[in-house]
Amino acid sequence: MDLFHLLEQHDFGAVHLGRDAASGMHCIVAIHDTRLGPAIGGCRFLPYDDERDALVDALRLARGMTYKAALAGLPHGGGKTVMLRPKKLFDRAALFRAFGRFLEGLGGRYFTAEDSGTGVEDMEVLRGVTRQVVGTGGGSGDPSPFTALGVRRGIEACVAVKLGRDTLAGLHVAVQGVGHVGYHLCKELHATGATLSVADVDPLKAERAQREFGAAVVPIADIFDVPCDVLAPCALGSALNDSTIPRIRGAIVAGAANNQLAEQRHGDDLHSRGILYAPDYAINAGGLINVALELEGYDAGKARVKTLRVYDTIREIAERSQSTFTPTYRVADLLVEEKLGRGASEAS
Ligand code: NAD
Repeated sequence: MDLFHLLEQHDFGAVHLGRDAASGMHCIVAIHDTRLGPAIGGCRFLPYDDERDALVDALRLARGMTYKAALAGLPHGGGKTVMLRPKKLFDRAALFRAFGRFLEGLGGRYFTAEDSGTGVEDMEVLRGVTRQVVGTGGGSGDPSPFTALGVRRGIEACVAVKLGRDTLAGLHVAVQGVGHVGYHLCKELHATGATLSVADVDPLKAERAQREFGAAVVPIADIFDVPCDVLAPCALGSALNDSTIPRIRGAIVAGAANNQLAEQRHGDDLHSRGILYAPDYAINAGGLINVALELEGYDAGKARVKTLRVYDTIREIAERSQSTFTPTYRVADLLVEEKLGRGASEAS
């Protein structure tokens, strides 16, 4: 494997490999950037056939965390762990204890949290051996309502800039995916007087949004064709691609899903079509803002106040995009690069 070439490609940073013979623990801890503070980012626990794929996942996700934390104004850099799920029988608690001991050895440079394949119980096991963990049972709890609150504020900022309106009342939002975040987003939007169309592969979730918020349920294949003011992708990554973008009927795309642009050029495509896209890592930071507060003493009120500021971030991005004729995803990246530059000069 051409290791250093991979690090260069992903603009890294440091990678730590951990192995514990007794438990069979193998982990990759990717620390992308610590200029603004210790790195933060979840721990994935999934089976990988190819170690290179595991490493690339860790690098890509850790870099994304640097950008999300920096734009949210958090005193943190980005990191991510991929723990390889053993193919043979394993003792889960022993694996996580071994991982926790490994984290302790990193000198406070990285805090982990839950991610795909891990849960609060695993974080509790980690907490038994290390302080380098957030998202434990007694801490900040479910991040989804905070993520949804931030997305609602981001939508309000987009509506102010693009449509010149200071309320969502009477606007139509099409939500793709009404799981944890999508459900809470519908609740937020319904409370503001917006009307909703929703689609979910799970009909029970779509029906719940219909029952509780009067949402119109549309087939999953049709959500991009719905005439609306705002499209909110809240399901999987790569929702914005060559086949979906030409169908979008709204002037704004603003939702919670990570990695919404299948490729960066899709951000250019949205821009040239006059569609305002709220960059995913800027608008969906509420969950990270919430969990990061555990490190300074968790306070739900404070988490709410900080999450409301997603409005200012999205508004600044949208206005800069308009005044500089630059796609929003690029404006967001430039803002992060400015902040990181500032962090570096303050640290030196
Ligand atoms: P979730 O799994 O609870 O919800 C996703 C929903 O999308 C599910 O109900 C699923 O059935 C549905 N879905 C899947 N494919 C679909 C399709 N093709 N069409 C319509 N619906 C589809 O996940 P979540 O926690 O709500 O997260 C949603 C997105 O937001 C993810 O991309 C996640 O990475 C991102 N995100 C979540 C948080 C958070 O706080 N949970 C924070 C930041 C980003």
